[in-house]
Amino acid sequence: MKSHRILLFFALIFILSGCAGSPAGEPVVAELPAMDTLMKLTLYGENAQAAAEPAKERIRELEGLLSTTDENSEIYAANHSGGAPVALSGDTAALLDRALQLCRRTDGALDVTIYPVVRAWGFTTGGGRVPDRAELDGLLERVDYARVALSGSTLTLPEGMELDLGAVAKGYTGDVLMDLLEEAGVTSAIVELGGNVHALGSKPDGSPWRVAVQAPEGGYAAALEIVDKAVVTSGGYQRFFEQDGEIYWHIIDPAAGRPARSGLASVTIVAEEGTLCDGLSTALFVMGADRAAEFWRETGDFDFVLLDEEGGVTITEGLEDSFSLCGEWAGRPLEVLRR
Ligand code: AMP
Ligand code: MG
Repeated sequence: MKSHRILLFFALIFILSGCAGSPAGEPVVAELPAMDTLMKLTLYGENAQAAAEPAKERIRELEGLLSTTDENSEIYAANHSGGAPVALSGDTAALLDRALQLCRRTDGALDVTIYPVVRAWGFTTGGGRVPDRAELDGLLERVDYARVALSGSTLTLPEGMELDLGAVAKGYTGDVLMDLLEEAGVTSAIVELGGNVHALGSKPDGSPWRVAVQAPEGGYAAALEIVDKAVVTSGGYQRFFEQDGEIYWHIIDPAAGRPARSGLASVTIVAEEGTLCDGLSTALFVMGADRAAEFWRETGDFDFVLLDEEGGVTITEGLEDSFSLCGEWAGRPLEVLRR
């Protein structure tokens, strides 16, 4: 009997202990389900209380714009535009513009027009099915970020093509929240959006935040110390289904139309910009370790942690002083990439 199973792993990166009891007093904690995950904001300082509700409101607003399935969203409208131009809000236009840059920069390893394929695999419905080659080939004719025309805030999407900003939406949301919190006078905050963590400043006592990278089998593989950074993980274990003993996960190789099996179990990107981290975590997972290393050497405005399916760990040199393996991962081989 076929078994279809989708497992959602929420809160993929956990903030390690030591966040509470700061000199600035107890934090204000706000939680809400949004964008298919559980979001948690931990805000410190005298302006924290006043900033919490506007921050939650902003998350709901972005979810309302960017959802592929909500019939009132801008993305839904664009995906049903039949090739006619659509006027986008500033948020959607800004995110799409940045996402298209990342699609180009990653040579299509990130492709925001992947939605027809994602849907065919059942990842939008929570079902899970394995499409055959002919079906995938047909769908891939409708996948090509280069055919998306964005001029200012006017989008023209060729008929039959559909956008999915799921690979970058949470990263962008984190960036927006960091700006909002800063403007509201919050000086210290940690925001967890599913597998994305964004840190504003340092902990109230001035020490760095400690963020854990999840082990694919559960528990922690490593810890990272960060200040004013985003840490974003894409992993095959985050969302998948199993059929006839095979695992099929939600990160698709746009060249094949199938789940990306590049030998990696997860990719964690560390940089200031959340949208960049989010887009590249998905893209480098598709690329695999060798192409990811080459890509980092060519560009390098970010750092990464790669966990491979054999249990190997690779980090880039910028993380050397802030990264440590933990628990059962402590003795594993660690490769540090240098320029
Ligand atoms: P993330 O969890 O950030 O790696 O994003 C994965 C989500 O982005 C999936 O659930 C899909 O909706 C979508 N997606 C999957 N593969 C790709 C890809 N190669 N390029 C763009 N979006 C993708
Ligand atoms: Mg991503």
